[in-house]
Order: sequence, then structure tokens, then C-alpha cells
Amino acid sequence: MKNLNSNSEAEDTTPHNRMIAGVLVKGKVIDHQTRCTHYHSALDIIAIKFKCCNTYYPCYSCHQEDTDHVAVPWLVDERDTKAILCGACGHELTIAEYLSSHNTCPSCHASFNPNCAKHYGLYFEGVQ
Ligand SMILES: [Zn+2]
Ligand SMILES: [Zn+2]
Ligand SMILES: [Zn+2]
Repeated sequence: MKNLNSNSEAEDTTPHNRMIAGVLVKGKVIDHQTRCTHYHSALDIIAIKFKCCNTYYPCYSCHQEDTDHVAVPWLVDERDTKAILCGACGHELTIAEYLSSHNTCPSCHASFNPNCAKHYGLYFEGVQ
């Protein structure tokens, strides 16, 4: 009888869509905390739900490579939408919660990558 290793997912670094905390994250995901082939530092542990396809991706590049449409940013009056997934604990943050989180998950206190702020304009309307 074979001894199946239930932790094998943690060691599988092949890029593919993954279920993370019960949520499907699409794109070139390489681990169970939402890191992808584009962004995979210790702090790259969030996925963002894209409004255009209502689908979580780890990053903008994953979205562009997986779809044939242009990403649509969330509007200012949609900030109470849950659109950010913490890959460390599986908590879904609203956009308002994320933007005021100071790059720390309000649920598990894991640190998010502050460099994501450079790309906020791609994801959220009206963020400077
Ligand atoms: Zn889309
Ligand atoms: Zn990516
Ligand atoms: Zn968390």
C-alpha cells in the first residue's frame, strides 16, 4: 500500500490554477499562498479578484496571460466588495479593508508586499 503524502501540494511548484483556502485562484500560481511566477517574494501572499471576470489572480500579469480581455479596475463606490484574498489565512478583505490595512492582514497579521501599492491604479479606481 502506497503512503500518499497529503502535503505534496506545498512542494509542487508547477504553475497552475489552485484552490487556496477553498477559493479558486487562477493563473501561474506556484504555491498554496498565492505566489506566482511573476511575484514570489516572502511577502507576495495576496490574490486579487478581477472585476471583469470575477476571478482571483495573484497578479495583473497572471490575468493578462490567462485572458484575452483588458482588466477593469474596481470603482470607488465598490470598495465594500471582498476582492483581496490573504494567502496566509484565507481571509477575504474588502477593497476598503485592504487599502487601510497598512499591508498587514487584519485577520492573521501576516505582512503584505508594500510594493503592490505601485500597481494600485491597475486594480482600484481613484487610488493615488
Ligand atoms: Zn478579467
Ligand atoms: Zn503572476
Ligand atoms: Zn491573513
